Amino acid sequence: HHTRNSGSLIQVYQPNLDINSVERLNLINDLRQAIPCNQFELHFQPKLCLYSLKVTHVEALVRWTHPTLGMIPPDNFIPIAEKTGQIEGLTRWVFVAALMQCTEWNKLALDINISVNISAENLKESDFYEFVCQMMTIQNIKPQQITLEVTESSVVDDPKSAIKLLGKFKDYGFRISIDDYGTGYSSLAQLKQLPVHELKIDKSFIQRLERDLDDQIIVRSTIDLAHNMGLKVVAEGIEDEFSLLWLAQYNCEFAQGYFISRPKSASELTPWLLNPPKFTHSI
Ligand code: C2E
Ligand code: MG
Ligand code: MG
Ligand code: MG
Repeated sequence: HHTRNSGSLIQVYQPNLDINSVERLNLINDLRQAIPCNQFELHFQPKLCLYSLKVTHVEALVRWTHPTLGMIPPDNFIPIAEKTGQIEGLTRWVFVAALMQCTEWNKLALDINISVNISAENLKESDFYEFVCQMMTIQNIKPQQITLEVTESSVVDDPKSAIKLLGKFKDYGFRISIDDYGTGYSSLAQLKQLPVHELKIDKSFIQRLERDLDDQIIVRSTIDLAHNMGLKVVAEGIEDEFSLLWLAQYNCEFAQGYFISRPKSASELTPWLLNPPKFTHSI
């Protein structure tokens, strides 16, 4: 199951996640140690503003280094955390770590908005809103510096209460983003009611923009739809220059992807933010 990224020494463990597989049961137990044993770390991926060509927003992405298995991708442990109740503690750890990083960047005069991914399960916790607001007060961060990313599918579960809770977060001053848009079967009627600021178009529509004319039509229509609803657009999964130029041409506000920067640790990203590469959106 171990694979090596070409050229890097990072081990990526791809566990067998079948229900009740021994590996899965081991991961469930090991995950319980991750916070007490300090095995989580946040990486941050820039979102480039295609109007100003500046990076003022980043997304926090959690990383788990397992003591014997090495780096385990979030797609392989977040679903487990969600099914075993551990997502409550995980999201809270991520949220506090993001606020602490925000403070560090503010000290360097870097006014960066940090996105935190919120699971459907978190939206069902009775005291999630109270926890979040309490941490904002303790860490003394302005809500304008934080974006909450909620996937389209997590809103579909229970739209009524999701709309209500997201409304409270929006009123508090957070920026709200709908993640993985286009993959979650939400209706336009639901989208219209959602108290959000931006749509993130899922990377599956962006990665092949140059070759796939259907994706171009879908992305153009989604950008127009979002703008007509008063929402900003983030495209994720920009892997080449073509996609960047194309998205700028169709007035997408933000671009996120390996072409701009991979997710990086704070110590790697800080110098990058202080001295970013020059981006252009015309040839
Ligand atoms: P997401 O929130 O949609 O995050 C974007 C994912 O796309 C990240 O994967 C990012 O590394 C990857 N990505 C960014 N640019 C590119 C690109 O150009 N090409 C490709 N192929 N991929 C790109 P990552 O970090 O592995 O995270 C996967 C998912 O795990 C996230 O998707 C999110 O749903 C979840 N996740 C990550 N961190 C957290 C967290 O702290 N809490 C929760 N609840 N979920 C998280
Ligand atoms: Mg996200
Ligand atoms: Mg996404
Ligand atoms: Mg995703």
